[in-house]
Amino acid sequence: MFKAIGDKLFADPDGAPALIRRLMRENFRDYRGRYALAFLFMAVSAAAGAGSAAIMKNVINEVFINRDAQMVYIISGIVIAIFTIRGAATYGQQVILSRIGNSIIAKLQRRMYEKVNSLGMRFFDHTSFGEIANRFSHNTSAARQVMDLVILAAGRDVMSVIGLVAVMVYQNPLLSLISLTIMPPAIIAVAHLVRRVRKIAKSQFVSQSKILSLVKETALGIRVVKSFNYEGDMQRSMDSAVADVERQANKIAILTARTSPLMETLGGFAIALIILYGGYSVIHLGQDPGAFFSFITALLLAYDPMKRLARLQVNLNTQLVGVRLLYEVLDMEEAHPNDKNLPDLNVTKGEVKLDNLQFHYDEAPALDGMTLTAKAGEVTALVGASGAGKSTVFAMIERFYEPQGGAVLIDGQDVTQYTVKSLRKNIAIVTQDTFLFDRSVRENIEIGRPGASLEDIMEAAKNANAHEFIMAMEKGYDSPVGEGGLLLSGGQRQRVAIARAMLSNAPILLLDEATSALDAESENKIQIALARLMKGRTTLVIAHRLATVRDADTIHVLEAGKVIESGNHDALYKMDGVYRRLCELQFRSETQS
Ligand code: ADP
Repeated sequence: MFKAIGDKLFADPDGAPALIRRLMRENFRDYRGRYALAFLFMAVSAAAGAGSAAIMKNVINEVFINRDAQMVYIISGIVIAIFTIRGAATYGQQVILSRIGNSIIAKLQRRMYEKVNSLGMRFFDHTSFGEIANRFSHNTSAARQVMDLVILAAGRDVMSVIGLVAVMVYQNPLLSLISLTIMPPAIIAVAHLVRRVRKIAKSQFVSQSKILSLVKETALGIRVVKSFNYEGDMQRSMDSAVADVERQANKIAILTARTSPLMETLGGFAIALIILYGGYSVIHLGQDPGAFFSFITALLLAYDPMKRLARLQVNLNTQLVGVRLLYEVLDMEEAHPNDKNLPDLNVTKGEVKLDNLQFHYDEAPALDGMTLTAKAGEVTALVGASGAGKSTVFAMIERFYEPQGGAVLIDGQDVTQYTVKSLRKNIAIVTQDTFLFDRSVRENIEIGRPGASLEDIMEAAKNANAHEFIMAMEKGYDSPVGEGGLLLSGGQRQRVAIARAMLSNAPILLLDEATSALDAESENKIQIALARLMKGRTTLVIAHRLATVRDADTIHVLEAGKVIESGNHDALYKMDGVYRRLCELQFRSETQS
């Protein structure tokens, strides 16, 4: 799965300039005032650098050759001034850029979260937690790094080089030309490095995501990991993912570092050449030694920014991989792009109707002409073998996916023509594996109706038979439930979920009965709570208990995404068809007892 994602994402490796342009367009404007100030500081700092090279001419000619004692003081004073100015400018520029950078990350993380929340279920079906987390942390900071790299290169490094090259050309045009001879081999070598770095950065992202996913699985599945002594396997998977990332990081480090010996050696040649020619012209042709010295100083000072500029390509390409992934998510289409223009659903009775619904996740159809009605205020049970499409029916009613044919109608209204929010507000859901957030019990119930008063929350909890156990907890309603509700028992979690649904008071209830048996007392409390919850609502229940189907007003038997039998328990049982066989299989233990 990870590899497929990687291959898809990196299909276009040459969009680097376009990506940088887009990043600049989206971020530069917001901060243009501050960037302008940073550029000003960089210009000051570059000018100071050029000044320090230029002054070398006076150091040599006035101090050492003319032995002018007074000049020593003047020049020393100027040097102190130049370096102080440079220090202050660098400070200013660093602070400004860091603050902009942090603000860019914050902005992108907000945008990313908003986008992820708006995406359809299909995205989550195909994206691992590790990948989402990685996009949040790594990719947003990659965007900041690219901005920094480009701004610093364009500002600090290019301006420094321009200033210093100006000094060089002014002091000695011919020598300046000679020092340019190292450019072509440097460019060719760097281009080669860039290609390799890009490839490695891609596989690094894939391995990083894997680490995050493994960590998540360990944290959430710790009970399974421990009880099945699965630590060894997890450790091995982790070891291999970690080793991959380590190896890839080392490779990138080596490739990035390789620009150093490359530039040093080439630089050494250039400088040696210049000393040969420059020394010759000073000694034999009687040229100005101060100008020569100033030239060498400018060259040496230009060397660092030039080296950074040479490495820029490599660094940019490492980070651009992340930026590409970031935009991939930011550019995804929202699940319900037209939602804003739609009216709200008006639920009066609460009748739910599925009309010839067609849907497939991948290739095989999950729903294949599903037609059924859940009458208002009644209990409609869905039964069928695993994979028959029961959960998919719920997902379609909640509009987690869009139908590929047919429609879901609520009180005769096609749900795709109304806002998703108004639809979901009218639906409460209680599933067998209730997800609780790592917050207090109170906050977990409040999700049913945000802003509900504590009295209402308590009322809902009482009706859900949850009040008692909540009060028995150390901090009552403010007690934490732990990650995923780990601090509560399975039965308690379900009752919190029932309280949540109770509080929402939605007219339509989707109920996925627990398959795992609880102890009799818990079970009894839950059944009583559920009976209260179902009262007066249109209830669709994925039934796993005989008692539920017996009490249901209508039962629909699902097979391969279709309804094959409908009726109440007695009628269906008498028919001696699929339902009866299902009853005998699924509810065997209950039937016998
Ligand atoms: P049931 O709830 O009756 O067990 P489901 O509605 O979960 O059945 O599944 C119907 C079919 O859709 C099955 O073949 C199942 O493998 C497939 N399916 C369910 N969820 C997904 C998903 N998220 N991605 C791909 N296929 C899925």
